[in-house]
Amino acid sequence: MFERLLGNDAAKHSLRRLIGGGRVPNSLLFCGPDGVGKREFAIELARAFMCTSQRPGDVCGECPACVRAGRFDLPKADKKDDFKQVFFSGHPDVGTVVPYNRNILVDAIRELEREANFLPYEGKARFFIIDDADKMNDAASNALLKTLEEPPAGTYIVLISSRPDSLLQTIRSRCQTVRFAPVEESLIVRHLAENGLSKPDAELAARLCRGSVGTALSIDLSKFRELRSSMLGVLQDAIIRKDIAAVLRTSEQINDAKNKDDFEMSIHVLESLARDAWLMAKNAAAEAITNRDISGELTEIANRAASLQLSSFIAAIEDVRLSLQVNINRKIASDALLTRLASA
Ligand SMILES: [Zn+2]
Repeated sequence: MFERLLGNDAAKHSLRRLIGGGRVPNSLLFCGPDGVGKREFAIELARAFMCTSQRPGDVCGECPACVRAGRFDLPKADKKDDFKQVFFSGHPDVGTVVPYNRNILVDAIRELEREANFLPYEGKARFFIIDDADKMNDAASNALLKTLEEPPAGTYIVLISSRPDSLLQTIRSRCQTVRFAPVEESLIVRHLAENGLSKPDAELAARLCRGSVGTALSIDLSKFRELRSSMLGVLQDAIIRKDIAAVLRTSEQINDAKNKDDFEMSIHVLESLARDAWLMAKNAAAEAITNRDISGELTEIANRAASLQLSSFIAAIEDVRLSLQVNINRKIASDALLTRLASA
């Protein structure tokens, strides 16, 4: 089992051992970066208890039970009341709890607690996945703690988190941790090519996603190229053309209300370009360059800028990116940033 999932061989190995030995703990914590497949692994593990094919310790992925266990229909609308529950997949023994905005609601965990005590309807166990488990507030965490302390036999709970340090220590200590890592670039390229992307697009998306298959699959490359050409213009204006007025015009543009959704992405792209130019100025290996499909333009920037200037750009961009997480005024931040680039 797990053959269909990309990368993370160590996690596959330890989960197979647990399943093979009939020693799957009742509470597990899957942690690692976003988009590397933690949720898909959890569903595959659930299938080990639901699959109706005759291969013990394995899942077929094709029987009706396997198919239904992976089919979740989560609410699209933002109605808080909708999130006060466990969402069951097409299989009545496989359920999930997901956050409403930034919080997992305590009512959802209380329902999970009730459901965890029922006997399986069809499968060999009850199986629950708590997505973004670090979004449980104290009330939700304490409600879950009761279930983790005395897990009903035949019930399995998998917590998924990219920020496990934000979980209560008492919760972490009751779960067996399985760590997930970024997926290798070559595996992602192959996967994207199989999904119909051209080779250059697959390679670019794989480099941009930093090991997150989810990001690679959802990235809009034409939008990315559009933003990248605008941000490359910023670096060229600042470093090659020394045109401060042009840099400030771009700042106006990225602050324009109609571009508001692209703001964070623009800053992110600007950072990756500056970092690439800095790496090139330091003669880094080609594989280290994210935007190596435009290496000609980047070389020109790298040749004209001192590496110290580039590293101070990167630090300034990083400051803005971090402060975005606390809702600062974007206009003030980007004006300050781009002025600093232009006058460096
Ligand atoms: Zn099956």
